[in-house]
Amino acid sequence: MPLFICTACGTQYPESDKPPGACVICEEERQYVPPRGQTWTTLDALRIGHANSVREYETGVIGIGTQPQFAIGQRALLLRTAGGNVLWDCISLLGAATVTMIKSLGGIQAIAISHPHFYTCMGEWARAFDAPIHLHAADKQWVMRPDAAIRHWDGETFELWDGVTLVRCGGHFEGGTVLHWAGGAGGRGLVCSGDILTVCMDRKWLSFMRSYPNFIPLSARAVNGIGTALAPFAFDTIYGHYFDRVIAHDGKQVLEKSIVRYAAAIEGKRGY
Ligand SMILES: [Zn+2]
Ligand SMILES: [Zn+2]
Repeated sequence: MPLFICTACGTQYPESDKPPGACVICEEERQYVPPRGQTWTTLDALRIGHANSVREYETGVIGIGTQPQFAIGQRALLLRTAGGNVLWDCISLLGAATVTMIKSLGGIQAIAISHPHFYTCMGEWARAFDAPIHLHAADKQWVMRPDAAIRHWDGETFELWDGVTLVRCGGHFEGGTVLHWAGGAGGRGLVCSGDILTVCMDRKWLSFMRSYPNFIPLSARAVNGIGTALAPFAFDTIYGHYFDRVIAHDGKQVLEKSIVRYAAAIEGKRGY
């Protein structure tokens, strides 16, 4: 029986002879069903018309994204840390070339995902590389295809191994998570932010929303909470969720000034 994938968000559902009646993720207020209506695909069909492309940003940081763009269009990151390789965030398409490339680089020792919009085909990736999937427990209800590889963590931080830490920031989703790698960016530290901290189009600022497609903002309190969560960590580079959304330097200062700007706007201060 096929495992249907929602073409709007890329989420894979459990085996069924017919497609699900609706996509739970897309029906929720943070996502949307496109004007064409709900449509479905499968991994086999996706492999025919799409392929993954890769981009190495710096030593040990490789972006993997699908061309032409599929669903939300995010790219994942393969982080080659001293303690092992991490797949940060996930994409729907996993084909033979991607498996061969990653296996030649030592496989994947852990998968971690920022929030449910990027859960996609995580079970397929976990099986291909025999890797555990680390998700924040606060977003448990949004797992559409349960998998034995999923390990839910609770609390504010979870260390994968020395120098690689998952940090719960909340905001966009209650369990919204970013990854901090102390050894990344030449030892200055990096943050993989998904769209929990969204790198803006100008790559000079960050912003924060409950829903990006439906323009639902967060409160100043929620955004200040993101600052508090990341306060103990040093970092220079911030990798957002699209290929070209990267803040190369001064990430820590960018986060701090972006929180101040956001709070001023949402509270109607300073000319906003
Ligand atoms: Zn969907
Ligand atoms: Zn999202």
